[in-house]
Amino acid sequence: MIEEKLHEVEANIATSMKNRSEDCQDDVLLIAVTKNHDIHAMRQAIDAGVTDIGENRIQEAKEKYETLDRKVTWHLIGHLQTNKAKQAVKIFDLIHSVDSLHLAKALNKAAAGINKVQKVLVQVNLAHEDSKSGIYEDGLEELLHQVDEMDNLQLMGLMCIAPNYENVEDCRPLFANMKKIYDHIKEISWQKANIKYLSMGMTHDYTIAVEEGANVVRVGTGIFGPRQY
Ligand SMILES: *Cc1c(COP(=O)(O)O)cnc(C)c1O
Repeated sequence: MIEEKLHEVEANIATSMKNRSEDCQDDVLLIAVTKNHDIHAMRQAIDAGVTDIGENRIQEAKEKYETLDRKVTWHLIGHLQTNKAKQAVKIFDLIHSVDSLHLAKALNKAAAGINKVQKVLVQVNLAHEDSKSGIYEDGLEELLHQVDEMDNLQLMGLMCIAPNYENVEDCRPLFANMKKIYDHIKEISWQKANIKYLSMGMTHDYTIAVEEGANVVRVGTGIFGPRQY
């Protein structure tokens, strides 16, 4: 079941990649979002080919991290509170949700404490939704430069969550705008940032995100079915 759905998602991504404009040749990294799914589901997905998993809560991720007997790359995709920074740097290979100088400083300090250079994405709130985290576009470049100057962080790109529009096609201009911003920041000469990830697209909108240039998508429901809360 999980295996079949995973292959369906992979096939959809491949189709969407063919529909991209010619200036975007990036491969697409699929993150299987395992929040609220148990370790058995995780093992099934990994055995079917998943290499990257996404979690949004520290406590849940920590329990799974300590239990899972498979090697995978761990992504933190949810909002992070500064008081959890220490735990986050111990678990995650890539943190997608840096959205303030305050949080960046906490992560930098926590990473220094364990001699790690923590890879991060900055989360952008393009639609200015109060209900979502992420920095507004007008403060973005300043934050990116501040992160680039931190010894124990390495900036790898941008992440966004599209609004829940009634008509999913309404996400398209927003994704296209994110791609423009991403292309722009790729051209900046950073000290040590390595801008290569544009993380956008979830189950209901990942095909559109890929068409518009996403190279990382985060899919939960599409692989594991609905979450039980
Ligand atoms: C839960 C979550 C996802 C996956 O959502 P689905 O709709 O189940 O694919 C992706 N990104 C973030 C930030 C999430 O919190």
